[in-house]
Amino acid sequence: MAYILLTGGAGYIGSHTALALLRAGYKVISFDNYSNSSTTALQRVEQLAGAKVISISGDIRDEAALQTVFRQYPINAVVHFAGLKAVGESTKMPLHYYDNNVAGTVTLCRVMREHKVKKLVFSSSATVYGDAKTVPIAETAARSATNPYGQSKLMIEHILEDLVQAEPDWSISVLRYFNPVGADSSGQIGEDPNGMPNNLMPFIAQVAVGKRASLSIFGNDYATHDGTGVRDYIHVVDLAAGHLKALQYLSKHQGIEAINLGTGTGYSVLDMVKAFSKVNNVAVPYNIAPRRAGDIASCYAQPDKAFNLLRWQAEKTLDDMVRDSWRWQRQNPNGYSNS
Ligand code: NAD
Ligand code: UDP
Repeated sequence: MAYILLTGGAGYIGSHTALALLRAGYKVISFDNYSNSSTTALQRVEQLAGAKVISISGDIRDEAALQTVFRQYPINAVVHFAGLKAVGESTKMPLHYYDNNVAGTVTLCRVMREHKVKKLVFSSSATVYGDAKTVPIAETAARSATNPYGQSKLMIEHILEDLVQAEPDWSISVLRYFNPVGADSSGQIGEDPNGMPNNLMPFIAQVAVGKRASLSIFGNDYATHDGTGVRDYIHVVDLAAGHLKALQYLSKHQGIEAINLGTGTGYSVLDMVKAFSKVNNVAVPYNIAPRRAGDIASCYAQPDKAFNLLRWQAEKTLDDMVRDSWRWQRQNPNGYSNS
């Protein structure tokens, strides 16, 4: 029975991956400091899976706490979700972001090496492509970053590449997620942003449920089919499945591979608003606002590498994404908090 350690396992993507792993028969250990999540998420995962998660409260920068976990359990591989992800906040607190994301990852890798656990799946992001010159974006595209969050992901990618260069017996998948949305179809687990959502889908859902009056669409003068920004939205359940495929791949291959996890299809902000309203039969009032600083017109994946290496491709549709996001929002108007 394989033990998989999920750092940040209580978070949005971590909790969905925990569920998928439990259902596939893995033993799941979550190591999370709950800086952006709730213990309720993993309790619900346990109910849904009918199996236990070994939940440990701890910080990846705390080497002694990590040592204890690696001594206690025969860990086969690590899926490393733990990190801070708010772009705006990262520009105000760069040291906090570099410490948490970069220093935390270095500490994790050091402890892994000491315990001879050298299989790692890392949560990277399409943000490492910066303002890509062409779409769809392949893994070979130039990388750049425009804010400390993106820099932290890029730095970690470089660190992991250097690590494999020096110690070729590591097996590392760098998964570059595009725009995760949706929720488990039970509506029991989902994305629970703190305060005002930065991302489009939770904002739409909060407008639909009446928590916010109107969605501000950031710009309708981009060079896209309707003038609004285009992104590659990917259902979180598909994303979770991609992690299982990556773990299977790592069990047979050494070295490092960066792999896009996206659908390969771009939808505009207006496409998303319209699909959400139509499929869920709910109004989403919106207004056109100025462009958001740092935004790009269009970003979507060339997803072939994931299929060729992992035999993974996204299966959920846009309708699934908006339906499942709405079910989670409707059933949990205040996320995991009861207030
Ligand atoms: P999330 O905030 O829901 O989950 C991250 C989890 O990590 C949280 O539970 C948080 O409490 C935990 N955590 C943060 N710092 C920690 C630390 N120092 N020690 C232990 N635990 C810590 O975010 P998510 O959306 O599930 O994202 C997971 C990963 O995927 C992150 O690394 C994020 O940067 C990356 N990613 C997310 C998106 C997205 O849009 N959601 C896109 C691309 C990449
Ligand atoms: N967006 C918007 N209003 C919002 C949030 C986002 O119009 O309140 C747009 C944003 O300009 C972009 C798209 O929705 O074109 C996706 O934004 P998000 O922040 O979710 O993802 P990212 O820009 O990081 O890819």
